[in-house]
Amino acid sequence: MSRVYNFSAGPAMLPEEVMKQAASEMLDWRGSGMSVMEMSHRSKEFVSIAEKAEADLRELLEVPDNYKILFLQGGASSQFAMVPMNLLRGKDTADYINTGYWSKKAIAEAKRFCNVNIAATSEDTNFTTIPPRDSWTLNPDAAYVHYTPNETIGGVEFHEIPDVGDVPLVADMSSTILSRPIDVSKFGLIYAGAQKNIGPAGLTIVIVRDDLIGEALPGTPTMFNYETHAKAGSMYNTPPTYSWYIAGLVFEWIKRKGGLKAMAELNKRKAEKLYAYIDNSDFYNNPVDPSCRSWMNIPFTLANPELDSRFLEQAKEAGLVNLKGHRSVGGMRASIYNAMPEEGVDALIEFMKSFEQKYG
Ligand SMILES: *Cc1c(COP(=O)(O)O)cnc(C)c1O
Repeated sequence: MSRVYNFSAGPAMLPEEVMKQAASEMLDWRGSGMSVMEMSHRSKEFVSIAEKAEADLRELLEVPDNYKILFLQGGASSQFAMVPMNLLRGKDTADYINTGYWSKKAIAEAKRFCNVNIAATSEDTNFTTIPPRDSWTLNPDAAYVHYTPNETIGGVEFHEIPDVGDVPLVADMSSTILSRPIDVSKFGLIYAGAQKNIGPAGLTIVIVRDDLIGEALPGTPTMFNYETHAKAGSMYNTPPTYSWYIAGLVFEWIKRKGGLKAMAELNKRKAEKLYAYIDNSDFYNNPVDPSCRSWMNIPFTLANPELDSRFLEQAKEAGLVNLKGHRSVGGMRASIYNAMPEEGVDALIEFMKSFEQKYG
């Protein structure tokens, strides 16, 4: 068996320890005589798995008691609609911050339900910056303020939580959740597709403050109402059981590694060494303003785009895969979530150096 360093933006690498544990428990989960995949979601075995996963996530993120954690399906993309359907609560307008590709998707969907006030945008810098907080034109009557703390494609990240006063702050944390400690109490709602930093695809985590639940738009389908899932402990219908179980193993792994503080130190170190190498090279370039560079997704270009396919081919031969940038921006992108070991980043830098020596 040989495993590669996988720089995919998502679905992304999972910790090897987690997959080994899952493999050893695959056919017979702890004496139950069955795989977690085969268990009723209402069995006492699966309920114990589900409760442990939720408790561990609550502990890792220090989620206050007045927040529900929901284990849903439909991806972050479904949340683009569920957020306005549930959070407008009689209002007809919401504030959105536009920092790139995923913000725009959230905005387009919200427009189906309400007036969207683009309170700030970094479109004029081609999304290589974050609009300074004092330039935002927030609407005091907005039902909520939505932003994307980490733009997975542009590689732009907020390193501080913006202060928006009493209006609920909503965050699409798909590609940054669990990369560092966050103060959940500053948010009304946080959502994230699991396939970047939590576990396998198919699971979507929503962390929502209790007082925001229960006022969905008339006509909201049962499955799109947070209240349905909050009341049923995310078991109104069959949840994505196996993804939930693997996410639980990932939470245990993060705890063993020292929790989110340890993850933050490691992620910062990994990102800083890759940026430092790119900045010191005349051959590679990252366009993002240094104050808002992502720890998780690092796009870069080669001096000569005609070398791109050769770069990707030779990287693959060196065991470094999925470095191709998103089709909308081109170039390269290295996604280095929690599960990417520091050795993977070191190997990438070594490869980039030798490629630069050959072709630079
Ligand atoms: C990947 C991603 C999405 C889309 O997630 P799905 O689970 O595929 O719907 C949305 N927002 C961000 C920030 C992402 O990184």
